[in-house]
Amino acid sequence: MAVYTGPVQDLVDELGKLPGIGPKSAQRIAFHLLQLPRDDALRLAGVIVEAKDKVSWCERCFNVASARLCDICNDDRRDSTVVCVVEEPRDVVAVEKTHEYKGRYHVLGGALNPLEGIGADQLRMRELFARIGAEEITEVILCTNPNVEGEATAMYLAKMLQDLPLRVTRIASGVPVGGDLEYADELTLGRALEGRRAV
Ligand SMILES: [Zn+2]
Repeated sequence: MAVYTGPVQDLVDELGKLPGIGPKSAQRIAFHLLQLPRDDALRLAGVIVEAKDKVSWCERCFNVASARLCDICNDDRRDSTVVCVVEEPRDVVAVEKTHEYKGRYHVLGGALNPLEGIGADQLRMRELFARIGAEEITEVILCTNPNVEGEATAMYLAKMLQDLPLRVTRIASGVPVGGDLEYADELTLGRALEGRRAV
């Protein structure tokens, strides 16, 4: 429902489209922005435009990248035979923080969620299967979130990969069930990775 007019309402509407921002928060942030010094507001607008222009997705693993490949895919010291499958780029950051993992990643872009119309075709699963032969991958670590959608995604992938000549593992429990990887502390996630089991 439009409460304000013109640019103020446009700002409230756009902010309200952001994840986790309800109508009240959108109004609060809009008025905060309106009260900012012009330079501060322009800096914020500028970094949004700059990020949109300069950041893209790695052609191999779909992590964020500022070139054709992300920094991790470009790093020859990483073990290219192990791939850690995660839902989102922020999960890459969570696993990297553990300093326990030296392989590469594959970012699915979400998890299976039939109620929201997200099936295998909406995720980057085909791209993962294509990488397995091409990159001589010997282990796939299923590192999706320990919630309903993440578990369903891990089970689906385990089934699709079961006949291939590679090790498929799932991170150990220890990451709080129902939670998101990004909220697990480094030590817990590090142990979950170390204690991964074949599925
Ligand atoms: Zn990459």
